[in-house]
Amino acid sequence: MTIRIIQHAELLVTMDSTRREIRDGAVVIEDHQITWVGATAALPPQILARADQQINVRGRLVMPGMVNTHHHFYQTLTRVIPAAQDAVLFDWLKTLYPIWAELTPADVQVSTQLALTELLLSGCTTSSDHHYLWPNGSRLDDQFEAATTVGVRFHGARGSMSLGESQGGLPPDRVTEDEAAILHDCRRVVERYHDAERFAMRRVVLAPCSPFSVTAALMRESAALARSFGPAMNVHLHTHLAETKDEEAFCLERFGYRPGDYAELLDWTGDDVWHAHCVHLNPAEISRFAQTHTGIAHCPTSNMRLASGIALVRAMLDAGVPVGLGVDGSASNDSSHMLAEARQALLLQRVLGDPMAMKAREALALATLGGAMVLGRDDIGALAPGMAADIIAFDLTPIDYAGAAVHDPVAALIFCTPQKVDFAMVNGRLLVEDGQVLGVDLPQLAERHNQAARQLLVRAGVG
Ligand SMILES: [Zn+2]
Repeated sequence: MTIRIIQHAELLVTMDSTRREIRDGAVVIEDHQITWVGATAALPPQILARADQQINVRGRLVMPGMVNTHHHFYQTLTRVIPAAQDAVLFDWLKTLYPIWAELTPADVQVSTQLALTELLLSGCTTSSDHHYLWPNGSRLDDQFEAATTVGVRFHGARGSMSLGESQGGLPPDRVTEDEAAILHDCRRVVERYHDAERFAMRRVVLAPCSPFSVTAALMRESAALARSFGPAMNVHLHTHLAETKDEEAFCLERFGYRPGDYAELLDWTGDDVWHAHCVHLNPAEISRFAQTHTGIAHCPTSNMRLASGIALVRAMLDAGVPVGLGVDGSASNDSSHMLAEARQALLLQRVLGDPMAMKAREALALATLGGAMVLGRDDIGALAPGMAADIIAFDLTPIDYAGAAVHDPVAALIFCTPQKVDFAMVNGRLLVEDGQVLGVDLPQLAERHNQAARQLLVRAGVG
C-alpha cells in the first residue's frame, strides 16, 4: 500500500456533509482512496511515520475534482465553424451533421484525448461523453481506449440516432443506425466495459440522442435494456430533453406531448436517468422530475451560445431535482472548462433578476456533488474518508485572484476569470503537477488534433 499526504493547503474545501473548509488542510491517500481529512497540524503521527510521499500545496486551494455530466468530445474538431457560429440548435445541427458524417475512428480517439486533457486542466476528474453517431467504423471502444491514456474517470454514453429525415427526423439518414444494431451494440459495450463497483474508472450509459432523432420505440427499448441488467449494475440513461422551443413544437406536433411528459410516458424518469438541458420544462414537469429524482445536466454556456434560453435551475434545486453541470459539446461552447461552466451557471441564474439565485458555493456544489449525484456515484464529488482520491488544486497567487482570494478563496474561483489547475490526481494517480499534464506532449496533441480537424472538413467538402 502506498500512503501519500497532501498537506499545507491554503484552504481545503471538502464538500463533505458539513461542507468543511479547513485552513492549512491535509488529505491522506492510501492507494486510490482518501482515508483521512483535517488540519495539517492534526495529522496523526503514526500516519506521518508511514507516509511514502508528502506533497506540499502551500498557496493552493484544494478541492474534489469536478464532474462533467454532458459533452460530445468529437465536436472539439468542429469548434467555431463559421457557418455554425450564429445559429439556433436545429440550423446548427443541420450545418454540422454532414461534417460529422466523415468522422473516423482516429478522429474519435484524438478528440477524446484532447477533450479529456482540456477538461482535466480545468479541474474535471470524471466526465461523461454522449457520442451519438458512429460513421466509418467508429465505436465506443475508440473512446474507452483514448480515455485510458488520459486517466480521467470516464462514463461513455453509447448514443444513437435512428429517426432520419426520410422518417420525419432531423438528421440525414446516413448518420442514423438500424435500431436492432444499436441495441445489440449497447449490450455489447455494457458487457465489455461497464464497471459497477465503487471507484470504477469506466461506466457505460445508454443514450439515444434526442426526441427528434430517435423513435419512441428505441427510447423505450434502451430504457428496458439498461434496467434489465438490474439495479446493482447501475447502468444509467441519458438524452437531450427540452433544449429548445423548436424541440417542444416538434414533440407536440409529432407525439402530442410536451418533452417532459413525453419522457415520463417513455419511462425516462427515475434516479437512473439524467437529461441534458431541460431549458423548457414547466413547473409541473420540474415537480415530477423532483419526485422521481430524475437528474439534469445544466449546460449554461451552450444554452446561451445557441440562444436556447435559461434553464430554471433555482426552481429545480428548490424543488429537489438533482442537477449537475455539463460543458456540452465543444461545437456549442466552444471550450471544455468545468470551472468556467460553474461561473456561467452562477451568472446565468442571476440574469433573471435575482442576485441570490445562485451563490459561489452552490455553483461549486453543482460541479462536484451535483455531478456525482446525477451520474449515480457515491464515491466522488467530496473529500472525505472512503471517497476516491480525485483531488485538484488551484494556485491562488496569480494576478487574476489578486485582491479576491484574500477575502474568500472559494468565491474567487467562481467570480474571477477561470484558471487552470496546478495539481490534479485521479484515483490516486497524479496526472497534473505544477500545471503540467504528466506524460502528455500538449503541443503535439493539439497539432495532431488540428490536422484531424482540417482533414475532416476537407473530406466533408467544406475545407
Ligand atoms: Zn449536447
